[in-house]
Amino acid sequence: MKLSGIDEKTTFIRETIPIIKVPPILDIGQDFTKRELQLIQKFYYQLQNHIETKNLNNFYRNIKTLKIEENNSIYLHSDSGEIKVNGIYYPSTNEIRISKLYSKKPYILSHELFHMSSSISDLKNDYDFSGFCQSSEENQIGSGLDEGYTELLNARFFNLPSQLTAYRYELVVASLIEEIVGKKEMQTLYFNSDLFNLVKTLEFYSNLREIKLFLINIDYLLDYGHNNIPFSNNKEYLTIAFDEVNKFLINSYINKLKISLQNNTIMPIEASIKLSFFIKKINKLKENKIGIDKKYIDDNLKEYIKDKVKVLKIKI
Ligand SMILES: [Zn+2]
Repeated sequence: MKLSGIDEKTTFIRETIPIIKVPPILDIGQDFTKRELQLIQKFYYQLQNHIETKNLNNFYRNIKTLKIEENNSIYLHSDSGEIKVNGIYYPSTNEIRISKLYSKKPYILSHELFHMSSSISDLKNDYDFSGFCQSSEENQIGSGLDEGYTELLNARFFNLPSQLTAYRYELVVASLIEEIVGKKEMQTLYFNSDLFNLVKTLEFYSNLREIKLFLINIDYLLDYGHNNIPFSNNKEYLTIAFDEVNKFLINSYINKLKISLQNNTIMPIEASIKLSFFIKKINKLKENKIGIDKKYIDDNLKEYIKDKVKVLKIKI
């Protein structure tokens, strides 16, 4: 089975991102409809409110030449086959395609505009960097975390009610990674397409092998654990991947709390409240993923948490 071990080749994380700077001046390209233009303006306003100008280089560069196209139906190639999607962004051509059915829904286009604002293509080496995802012809890593965080920002910046959000499982996972990394730093890394330094930050609380496995598992759960994929032929691995993601999150967060307790930057009571809150979110993750053995997940996690919390010497 593909995911039974870490394959160094498929988990290669590139360090060097090409930087093409442009002045931070809003220069919107041509050929947009009135509705698209209004949404781009609204999107820009929200970005300015939330994100420092120095992290909007990808936005200012890409918006100049962005193309938006409406299609009857859009299909995405994934490991599990062709998936019908509502919208898609191609970093190498700087192009958004929106399904005609969804072209009037602003939250579909704004999701794709987040991808545009966090993407850069290394055309010479045929590599795309998009938020926390890196891809070439042969390799791709980080798409699960990237979709989750993209939708988290979409929901946060535009106050989306939860029933309108996509990638709900990946969104919560991304929010828990944000708790570990810190909101400001995570946003900065995202808009600079910097998976490499996200991994470096996570290495304070875990190791490289575990981090890569976490990213692969999230990618796998994105590809195979979705409602619109009728059947996964690796059902058992779905549960294993889900369980491993839970453990990675808990373990990294506990290591973070441990460091904070040692440095006296947090009180034990505060640590126990934070950890309880974090675990509550982990327990809710299973509500948003189909095809997993929930009882196995629950039993396994309970034991794991009990064991790990002992190290902290706090009560939860
Ligand atoms: Zn997306």
